[in-house]
Amino acid sequence: MKILVTGGSGFIASHIISLLLKDGHHVVTTVRNLNDKEKISHLEELAKEDKYTLDLAEADLLQEGSFKAPMQECDVVIHTASPFKISGIKNAKEQLINPAVKGTENVLKAVNQTPSVKKVVLTSSVASIHGDNADIQDIKEDKFNEDHWNTSSSENHQAYSYSKTAAEKTAWQLANEQLRWKLAVINPGFVIGPSLTKRKDSTSINFMISFLNGEFKMGVPELYFGVVDVRDVAQAHVKAALNENAEGRYIMVSETKSTLDMAKILQSHLGASYPIPKKKLPKAMLYLAGPFAGFSRKFIKRNIGIPVYFDNSRAKRQLDISYRPVEESLKEQADQVIRDGLLKKK
Ligand code: NDP
Repeated sequence: MKILVTGGSGFIASHIISLLLKDGHHVVTTVRNLNDKEKISHLEELAKEDKYTLDLAEADLLQEGSFKAPMQECDVVIHTASPFKISGIKNAKEQLINPAVKGTENVLKAVNQTPSVKKVVLTSSVASIHGDNADIQDIKEDKFNEDHWNTSSSENHQAYSYSKTAAEKTAWQLANEQLRWKLAVINPGFVIGPSLTKRKDSTSINFMISFLNGEFKMGVPELYFGVVDVRDVAQAHVKAALNENAEGRYIMVSETKSTLDMAKILQSHLGASYPIPKKKLPKAMLYLAGPFAGFSRKFIKRNIGIPVYFDNSRAKRQLDISYRPVEESLKEQADQVIRDGLLKKK
């Protein structure tokens, strides 16, 4: 098959591309800048291999029409590109919402103009299933499932989650206006695990680097996430792309873990050689200091100390996914960032 993967330079997309190439598919991938060697050198290495067919092309989410040429004659489009940033946001509309929503529109308009495409797989998130962790108190089930939608995020509160929700809704609207292509949506929790790219600015990679560099050595805010391995998330995209019957939403979460649970796993793996956090920051302290660190009082009230749970069974049943334990993913990711020299020199 000929398959387009948007945002090939990303943490998740790199694993999707690697799996597709190993399966013998012809992969075309778009990146923002073909001259940015730091972000794409691992892809150029793959493209040199005789046994693989990988073409790289330039496209930007905000540039209308830029996905049309790379998509020519593709059977499947896997749309992963979208800004994933939860801190340092100054203008949510410009930095998150427009690229996510207009980008999805641009990619799907190109799909509508490309008759060969029969399937689109969109990387959404559990961020479009729920916003704040406290939202779990408003549902009748004890876990979130694929019928739930995030109704609590906005441009001013949890803007990243809002961008993912708005982008996924745009995709469903465009999918429902036609009959040629099917839409499968992957909704991963927080994605961890070893990276194929050595970039440090990707949020999932930066999370591990910050932990091991001691940025939270005084303690971590007690945040709970549904967590999942990047290799399992990549596998779900590939299976959704190749299985004709796969459509609809697929939550991808292995287990719920808190930031402190994750710190404990890393301590047991690495011992005292890294300044890994040992305790959680008291909620009262976060109320005082949080606003200076970019956590609003509303965010703290509705998220800190509140666990969330997800029904991960649809992906197991329909995509034949078996989830790696989070402990294994964390240990392998820690080993990879150390091995690749991504930490501050001691
Ligand atoms: P990365 O930051 O590693 O990758 C994001 C990708 O999007 C990069 O390739 C980036 O390009 C591209 N991108 C961002 N803005 C633009 C733009 N304006 N035009 C073209 N490309 C753009 O993040 P992940 O791999 O983690 O994220 C991939 C997808 O997965 C995103 O849709 C994200 O929302 C989703 N997701 C991620 C989760 C996680 O925990 N990591 C959890 C759930 C969903 P460039 O390399 O040039 O920066």
